[in-house]
Amino acid sequence: MPPICIIGSIHVDFIIRVPRIPSIGETILGEGFEIHPGGKGANQCIGVARLGVRASLVSRVGNDFLADMALKNLKTEDNVVLDYVSTVEGVHTGVAFILVDSSGDNIIAVAPGADMYVSRSDVDKVLKSIHGFKALLVQLEIPLDTVAYALEKFHEKDVLTILNPAPAVVLHESIYKYVDVLTPNSTELGILVGLDIGSLDDVIHASRKLLKAGVRIAVVTTLGANGAVVVTRNRVVHLPAFKVKAIDTTGAGDAFNAGLAVALTEGMGIIDAVLFANAVAALSTTKMGAQEGLPRRDDVEDFIKRHGLS
Ligand code: ADP
Repeated sequence: MPPICIIGSIHVDFIIRVPRIPSIGETILGEGFEIHPGGKGANQCIGVARLGVRASLVSRVGNDFLADMALKNLKTEDNVVLDYVSTVEGVHTGVAFILVDSSGDNIIAVAPGADMYVSRSDVDKVLKSIHGFKALLVQLEIPLDTVAYALEKFHEKDVLTILNPAPAVVLHESIYKYVDVLTPNSTELGILVGLDIGSLDDVIHASRKLLKAGVRIAVVTTLGANGAVVVTRNRVVHLPAFKVKAIDTTGAGDAFNAGLAVALTEGMGIIDAVLFANAVAALSTTKMGAQEGLPRRDDVEDFIKRHGLS
């Protein structure tokens, strides 16, 4: 039985490395080209599975050659259940076109295609067939209506709900009462509350606003190389990141969310779970590629032993 359900996107990422980001109307020659399977739903699903927990993905792909590329890693991963990934006729699989410059900055355009067809009926189907989920992990690369519906339905079944609000949009406040743990990065946190986030105090203030709006257990804000801040109704804890030699931080947030979901599902308290998620995410930055970099359970346990959990 898959304890974690992930509802989200499946993409193919097309990446061109460029000496600098071109200006409008300009064409420049790139210095390298890569194609990677991606999408936050797929990344987080593989992240959970690599940590040794069965993960059921609810998503959609197009009926095209891109679908095979997008599903490549998901299909070869033990612990991934793809029974609820369906094909949409006449629509392309989601794609992201990414330009990365020599300093690592990027610009990205996403054409969600089939991702936008993930629907309420997909949520109903998985809930009808699989009983006993322990957690739902959902992001914002699929229709908002589906996200809100999934959160409500899983909450009604007493399943722990985790919303990773990425990419951020302003959400209707009514959604928060169905969210147990909200996991923005600092930019996303700013968009959710309509404030600039420049300091730790800003993070705490914004998180408290979201708890007031209804988030049930915790707002966990990720701060890249500065770790993560957990704000609950009675605690504020800043957990620094593990020190690693990061070579590619793409997908660090996805690794973090996968680690957090697994740890909470296994019964860890929120602070220990965020420590575990920090370790998973730090390790993911030491390898190239969002999915390729997602660590396996043994590597995470070794890493934690070497670095300690404090
Ligand atoms: P996103 O990828 O969603 O923007 P962040 O950049 O905040 O998310 O990173 C998510 C998590 O990944 C952080 O909370 C931290 O645990 C880990 N992380 C990111 N960058 C580094 C780094 N340079 N060194 C160690 N850990 C990192």
